[in-house]
Formats: sequence, C-alpha cells, structure tokens
Amino acid sequence: MSPSAVDNPVLDVIVVGAGIAGLAAALAIHDAGHNVKIVEGATVLREIGAGVLISSNATRELIRWGLEDDLRDVIVQSRVSRVLRWDNGDVLSEVKMDPSIALKKYDAPVWMLHRADLHTAMLKKVQSLGIEIRLGSRVLDADVDTASVTLASGEVLYADFIVGADGVRSKMRDIISQKPVPALPTGDYAFQFALEIEKYKDDPVIAPLVEGHAATAWWGPGRHVIGTLLRGEKLFNCVAVFPDDGSLGDEHKQLGADVDELRRNFSDWCPAVRTILFHADPRSIVKWKLQDLDPLKSWHRGHAVLIGDACHPMLPYLAQGASQAIEDGAVLAQCLANLPLDRVGLAFQDLRFARATQIQQNARKQKTENHYPDGPEQRARDERLKDPTQVRAWQWEPVVGKPTKNWNDGLFGYDSKVECEEYFKEHEAGRTLVKQAA
Ligand SMILES: Cc1cc2nc3c(=O)[nH]c(=O)nc-3n(C[C@H](O)[C@H](O)[C@H](O)COP(=O)(O)OP(=O)(O)OC[C@H]3O[C@@H](n4cnc5c(N)ncnc54)[C@H](O)[C@@H]3O)c2cc1C
Repeated sequence: MSPSAVDNPVLDVIVVGAGIAGLAAALAIHDAGHNVKIVEGATVLREIGAGVLISSNATRELIRWGLEDDLRDVIVQSRVSRVLRWDNGDVLSEVKMDPSIALKKYDAPVWMLHRADLHTAMLKKVQSLGIEIRLGSRVLDADVDTASVTLASGEVLYADFIVGADGVRSKMRDIISQKPVPALPTGDYAFQFALEIEKYKDDPVIAPLVEGHAATAWWGPGRHVIGTLLRGEKLFNCVAVFPDDGSLGDEHKQLGADVDELRRNFSDWCPAVRTILFHADPRSIVKWKLQDLDPLKSWHRGHAVLIGDACHPMLPYLAQGASQAIEDGAVLAQCLANLPLDRVGLAFQDLRFARATQIQQNARKQKTENHYPDGPEQRARDERLKDPTQVRAWQWEPVVGKPTKNWNDGLFGYDSKVECEEYFKEHEAGRTLVKQAA
C-alpha cells in the first residue's frame, strides 16, 4: 500500500545514526516514498567492525533494496561450521552447510560479510538515491512531539518523524525514555583482528583452518574464539571473547589494543588458537566492551521510535545484531507507509518487540552454553553438540491461532512483508493489536 492509501502525505523523516540500522531504515523508508535525511555524529565513517552474518531473514531485504550485485564480490558462504574444544582442539561438532539449502528452504541466502563491506555498499546505495546524509551532526536533544532534533552545533532540524538508530549508547533512547538508560556491561571484552589469507596459504596451522570455506569456533571456560572467512575469502577474521577486567574504563572500544593481554588470556589454549593470536597485528586489533540492555518498556514516544542496537542490542552469540537491525528498517518503513502517523511507533513495537526480545534472551542462553567451565554441564553440552537436532532445539513463544515454530524456521523464515501484511489486515479488521503495551 502506498502512503496515499492511508492519507499519509509524503513524510519528512530524520534518521539519527548511519550504522547498519540507520542505513537500512533510510533505504526502506525512501523506498516507501518518504523523504529521508540521515544525521550522523561521526565526521568520518571509518572501516570498522568484524564479520557479520546476514541470515535469510535479512538478506531477503538487502536483495529487495538492490544490494546483491554490489555485494557479490565480498560475500562468503560458509560450507562447514565447526566447534572445537578449547584445550586440545578436539572436534565437538562439524556441520556441513550447503548454501543452496537456505535458499531452497527460506527463499533467501545466508551471507558472511565484513561489516565495513556491508556498510559501504549500503552507504553507496543511500548516496546514489540522493538521500541526504549529514556527517559531524551529533544529536544532543530532540522534541518527539514536534519531531525536531537539536544538533551539537545548535542547529535545529524539523521533520514529521524521527528514527533513533544511534546504537547501544543511544541518546535517543534517553530522550524517548525521559530518563538516562545506560547500556549494561556484559562482563566480556571482544578482541577482533583479521589475517590476510594469502600470507598464510602454506602455514601448517592456519591453511587447514580456512580450507573448505570453514567457520571455526573454539569454546572454553568463560572464553571463546571464532575464525571466519571474509571479504571474498581474502581475510581470516578472528574474534576472541574473554572476561572484562575493567581496563577499558568508560570507553567502549579501543583501536590498536594490547596484544599481550589477548595472548595472556588464551595462553593455555590449544596450539591452533595460540598460533592465530601470535599472528595478530597489534595495530589492527580492535577491543570492544560487549554491552547489553534489558528489554525496554517502550521503544517509541510521540513521533519518534528506536531501532537496532538503540533498543535491542544483541550479544553476538547468535550473530543476529545486524540482521535484526535490517528487519527493523524494513518493518518500520512498512508501518510508515500503511498506518496513520500516530499509530506507527506502537505498531512497530508490537510487530518487533517479542521477536527481538526472544533473540536477545536466547543469545544470553547461548553465551552460557559456549562458556561452561569444564565439568558436567560442559560434558552434557558436548553430548548435545554431537546431534545437530539438539543444538538450539528451542521453540518460539506460541502465538494464539498460529502453529508453533521451531527456532531456525522462525528465525530464518521471517519475511517482514508477510508479517506486516498480516498485521495490517488485522488492523483494518479493527482488532486490538497491542500485544506489548508500552
Ligand atoms: C564484536 C562485535 C561482533 C559482532 N558480531 C555480529 C555478528 O556476527 N552478526 C551480527 O548480526 N551482528 C554482530 N554485531 C552487532 C552489529 O554490528 C550491530 O548489532 C548492528 O550493526 C546494528 O547496529 P546499529 O546500526 O543499531 O548501531 P551502530 O552500528 O552502533 O550505529 C550507530 C550509529 O549512530 C551514530 N550515533 C551515535 N550517537 C549519535 C548521536 N547522538 N547523533 C548522531 N549519530 C549518533 C554512531 O556514530 C553510529 O554510526 C557485533 C557487534 C560487535 C561489537
């Protein structure tokens, strides 16, 4: 349905933040026929970030926005996913992954991408569509009733609707919540770095790890390491997670972090992990404080709504942060195109809250599983890993009148268009749709 179908004029929408969530929302809202302006606090958008898995539930949106050709050369499709034991590298699980299966089953592929490659492609698309993007424009305040934002420069910008896509340390979250809502520490740091595969093609440890398009994880007590191929298989991207010792203070990231700290944390791990960490170039290491948030009471107020990490940061254990940010953008645009403006925030939260919250909760559950200390719980987990049907054998919360869904089908089979169409049909039928009251 076009905006005119609900008598919504062409709206002016300000998107705060040019991360994956903000760019996704900008592309989708522009596509829905509205005017979009992005305001981004950073003066330069740097090539930063690790590997992001974009699963079928989100690749279908990227394809709809015409990004497949732009990403073709940098996509990796893993063919094997392995979990290895931390101290001796024993294989706990090895699952062959045929990329055509996701395509057949969920009608969209699974892509492993460098966040910077995805971000660059989305940014280029935004620019090619003529969407205005203002860098160096940090939002300090907003009035959600008049839909205006005040920038650090003192300039005030007016619109019809504001999208808060300003990440886990969101200012828009404080404004919408009418109180400070700081992100919570998870107790973990993540170190990220990448090795150029070309340099290690004869290395007896690293070469076999990247053979056969593998994604490899080592799980151990309180820690894990993941290595995946990225950027058209030119990079071996590594993320190592270990307990936060407070060394970052109030900062949430540090470039060129202490490589000795990284190596010290894994000094008793298997030779493969120690070899990978030995090759980490200190200049290329990024250290992140992993942050979290308990479910918020409300994601919206007045003519403003939160999306992405600003309202539902996801621990990286299910690799869904970027995919959920993309789903958010797609759903919000459909709400803006099909509902009266004063229903948009409520409907968006109604459509997205239960799903995002369950993914958040299961990501926390997955962290516990990955990090069990040696002992009976870890042994039970390792037994479960031998049977792929037991891994993530979760169900989605039942929805009245609908069949229950197993985890993978519900996660990867999600199509924002189908969800929104059903929701709007019920809305037109005059039913009350507020499942998650603000
Ligand atoms: C180590 C690590 C590994 C990860 N791995 C994965 C993975 O495998 N798979 C996955 O899907 N996700 C992963 N994620 C998460 C993923 O990157 C994010 O969840 C996703 O990109 C959504 O982010 P966002 O756009 O909401 O926020 P961000 O990427 O944080 O973007 C927010 C933007 O808003 C800007 N901004 C902030 N405040 C203001 C302001 N006041 N005014 C204007 N602009 C502002 C910021 O400069 C920034 O550009 C990982 C994250 C980390 C840290």
